[in-house]
Amino acid sequence: QTDTKNLRRLVRDIPDYPKPGILFRDITPMLVDPEALHQATDALAAPFLGQKIDIIAAAEARGFIFAAPLAMKLGAGFVPIRKPGKLPFDFHSFAYELEYGTDELQMHVDGVKPGQRVVIVDDLLATGGTMEACCRLLEKCDAEIVGCSFLIHLVPLGGEERLSPHKVHSVLQYE
Ligand code: IMP
Repeated sequence: QTDTKNLRRLVRDIPDYPKPGILFRDITPMLVDPEALHQATDALAAPFLGQKIDIIAAAEARGFIFAAPLAMKLGAGFVPIRKPGKLPFDFHSFAYELEYGTDELQMHVDGVKPGQRVVIVDDLLATGGTMEACCRLLEKCDAEIVGCSFLIHLVPLGGEERLSPHKVHSVLQYE
């Protein structure tokens, strides 16, 4: 069991960012602390240690921060999931609803082979829209999604239910 008190101390709350009424959880104080960065990566990997994991997938930009160290820790490769206009080869696309308008994520068609075991990582789970898009893209490649791993889970926003039946793991929960 990781002592998460130290990590929680290093998440900074920013009221009214990026819009009035939003309480933004800022992880940059954690990222700048070498021990905390290490501890956070270890905690994201913990439930998957000893399992065969082929690929860590993550959406830009904050998902990328943890994806490569997680991949190296679990002996997996890394597949980037990107905003439109960034991928040079053939890609799958998934558009999803935001509060205002839509957003879209893309992944190379050959990023994951059918049956490969994938863990998807992101810094934070809110409504689950971003992670659901990632899951859909991996499902288009017939990947086996072993779980979704988050540093922070904003529990009341219902992301875990939205991602069901996929397994959600989080290091810090906020009620
Ligand atoms: P969701 O799609 O509503 O689950 O929002 C999660 C995505 O938005 C993640 O990729 C996060 O990086 C970003 N995000 C939403 N709220 C916050 C926050 O309070 N702090 C940091 N990132 C956030």
